[in-house]
Amino acid sequence: VQIKGHSYDVHIDRNVYDLFSSDYYSLITNADHVGIIADEHVASLHLALLKEALNSCGVQPVIKLVPAGEQCKTLSVYGECHSFFLKEGFTRNSILIAFGGGAVGDLTGFVAATFMRGIRFIQCPTTILSHDSAVGGKTAINMPEGKNMVGSFHQPSAVLFETALFETLPPREVRSGMTELIKHAFISDAAWSEELLSNDRFSSPSIDWLSSELLKGIQVKADIVAEDEFEYGKRKFLNFGHTFGHAVEAVCGFGGLSHGESVMIGMAYSLLLSENFSEINSSITNRFIRFSLSNGYSFAPVRSFKFEDFLQYMKKDKKASFGQLNFVLLKNFGHPFVQAVTEEECENAFYELQKRVE
Ligand code: NAD
Ligand code: ZN
Repeated sequence: VQIKGHSYDVHIDRNVYDLFSSDYYSLITNADHVGIIADEHVASLHLALLKEALNSCGVQPVIKLVPAGEQCKTLSVYGECHSFFLKEGFTRNSILIAFGGGAVGDLTGFVAATFMRGIRFIQCPTTILSHDSAVGGKTAINMPEGKNMVGSFHQPSAVLFETALFETLPPREVRSGMTELIKHAFISDAAWSEELLSNDRFSSPSIDWLSSELLKGIQVKADIVAEDEFEYGKRKFLNFGHTFGHAVEAVCGFGGLSHGESVMIGMAYSLLLSENFSEINSSITNRFIRFSLSNGYSFAPVRSFKFEDFLQYMKKDKKASFGQLNFVLLKNFGHPFVQAVTEEECENAFYELQKRVE
């Protein structure tokens, strides 16, 4: 990822933690303390692997376990992490490692961004979804008022994906992660989008196929972030499906549907909105809805909640300004654009989506 002043490498492979004793040996051995913030569920399955790799470089990491998944992205867990590492004697010359999915990555990134005004951190992501979240330097925690409302931009020093860890992901987390992969395809490449939509192994991907697909997704994200680190322009495209998706996540209560499952609904909604402004037509949107249903995604929240429930959260979206709702839409696959959409258009699209997923 080529960012002025803080470029870094993303590795996706088996035995990738071996890199601690080669490429990243000086990074971790020069730090006065190495801390791991670990998702407690992932830690129970896989932490030994990471610890062993660090131990073999003579590093004894200090470990802070946090609640699994979205439950760790709170002010109170964030505060606990700071107190914990302060008591352990961490300094500006210490380094943190995030070990878990996107939730722990976002939390750890924000702790690192603010600990003594900012220390280095390494992402060791363990989910498919984190091919998106671990790259690009956005960090955040949630507030009761909305998702990712407090955070900062803080780039990691490296991202190390151990692909063997994907083997323990439950089907729901596979689905969740595959959503962001589709997103990367939809906003960048029509042929790749078509390949994914016609792939019948989509919901049970092999590790090898997945690794090469994730690499493509990471490249899309890296190219965009390199051009627009702070989201003044084209980085907004990465929010495709997220304005409505975040509202679904919030309405269902964080954890009700996973991030990716919610964004899948958000992408169907955005395709539907796109029909008003572009070459996207109802048969494209309907095909996407059928694809989602046949791969185990659910549209239940669209049936069980009212438009107003979603609207109140969409209005809090970080891309909404001056009371206007802005959506990333598609002219066609591979061609995203940002469009201001009226409340009325949003409402109509919502009722249309309800009809189409009946
Ligand atoms: P997650 O971190 O919430 O993890 C989901 C679940 O999977 C958890 O219960 C976790 O314990 C479990 N898990 C993780 N790895 C596992 C493994 N290898 N085997 C078995 N179980 C495992 O979910 P996620 O989907 O990785 O991340 C979602 C988060 O990422 C959201 O908070 C979202 O806001 C954030 N996100 C951030 C960005 C960004 O740019 N910073 C981008 C996209 C998403
Ligand atoms: Zn996302």
